[in-house]
This record gives sequence, structure tokens and C-alpha cells, in this order.
Amino acid sequence: MKKITIAIDGFSSTGKSTVAKQLAKALGYVYVDSGAMYRAVTFYAMRNGFIDKDCFDKEGLISQLDNINISFKFNAEKGFAEVYLNGENVEQDIRSLEVSNFVSPVATVSQVRQQLVKQQQIFGKDKGVVMDGRDIGTVVFPEAELKLFMTASAEKRAQRRYDELLERGDEVSYDDVLNNVQSRDHIDSTRKDSPLTMADDAIKVDNSSMNLEEQFKFVLKLSEEKIREINA
Ligand code: C5P
Repeated sequence: MKKITIAIDGFSSTGKSTVAKQLAKALGYVYVDSGAMYRAVTFYAMRNGFIDKDCFDKEGLISQLDNINISFKFNAEKGFAEVYLNGENVEQDIRSLEVSNFVSPVATVSQVRQQLVKQQQIFGKDKGVVMDGRDIGTVVFPEAELKLFMTASAEKRAQRRYDELLERGDEVSYDDVLNNVQSRDHIDSTRKDSPLTMADDAIKVDNSSMNLEEQFKFVLKLSEEKIREINA
């Protein structure tokens, strides 16, 4: 049976990774969270003093890109692959609001994007991959057989992210989370290199009024139809 590539793009906190993980599990595909890679580079930049509230030393970060190794390791207990930065598990660290506040500026840097896109293409070279991000259907895998573009209202998305952060025990305010979601949407959609945009051949999924199960059933059906079509 021929496998396909499934590209899931969309705005921040639209539930892309939740549905991508579910799909990968149901189809026996590999799931790759490309946002985690941008977050890991950002965490590296913060730790090494290349970025803080007042400054972003782009050139400094660029000079260190060859020393940043990002990998994923499957955690059987959690049921998904966690992200490692130079051999250290940083899955928890990269999800903080602080990393979220710095990640979009880091993701505007073309040298960062080139390096990560190359690695993402290697992850997906044998197909059978579900990858979520902002430029997967447009830049990383323009030939993907199935492209989904997820949207939901900013308030709904901020509420979901706020609930997630509270559950982790982070002390954050809903307004700060909403600001972060809106500001990332803006930077991600207006940057010069690979802006977030819906590919012409993507299917738009507005999940504002879908629950997780409805959303999963909907995208699983689309995926199965596409796999049948490719194998017919
Ligand atoms: O998906 P997630 O919200 O974790 O992504 C974090 C950030 O990484 C995004 O807001 C965006 O700035 C950047 N990103 C990107 N291209 C991708 C995935 C994420 O620019 N393919």
C-alpha cells in the first residue's frame, strides 16, 4: 500500500498537533511537530544569551546553527515523539509562554528556516508522515497528497492554549496568552520568508465549533479517501 504525505498548517493553537498525532497513530504514520523544532532553536537562543526581552542577536544565533542538533525520540508512555536539543529532552521547556513569545521572531530568520526545512524534508522522504506547522504544504512538502489548513477564532484558540498552560502548572493570564496568539499570527503571516498562508490545494478545516472527536473523524475520513485514491 502506497503511503502519502499529510501536511497540516494553520494559525497558532488551532489544535494541529492534537489532530496530527491522532492521525499518525490511526494510520501508522510518523508524526513530526515542526513547530517544536523552531521552539527548540529558540530555547537554545534564550539559554545562550542570543535573545531576551530587549535584544535578538540574529548573527550570533546564525553563527551557532551548526552546533544545534534537534532530534525526536518516541516516548511509548506518552504515545508521541519528544523533542531533544543536543541530546537533552526539552519537550517541557519549549512549551512555556516565554518560548512562545520569542519563537516567531526566530522563525523569521531565513538561515534557521533553511536548516530546519532540510531536516523536515529528510524526515518525510519516505512518505507515511504527518507533519504540522506553518509552511508544510507550501514550502516543505508542496507535493503533499493531502494538505489541511486549520483555523478557529483567536479567542477559542487562546482559551485552549491557556487551559493547557494552566494544566502544566504555569502561571499565566488569559490576556497574555491571547496577545501571544495574535502576535504570532501576525508575525507568522507577514514575514518575508515562507509566510503562513493556505496552499491553493489545501482543505480548510474550521474547528471553532467541532469537538476533538468530530474533528478527528473528519480528517481521518479525508485521509482514508486520499489513500484509497492514490492506491486505486
Ligand atoms: O506550532 P507551534 O505553535 O509550536 O509553532 C511555534 C512557532 O514556530 C510558530 O508560531 C511559528 O513562528 C514557527 N513555525 C514556523 N514554521 C513551521 C512551524 C512553526 O515558522 N513550520
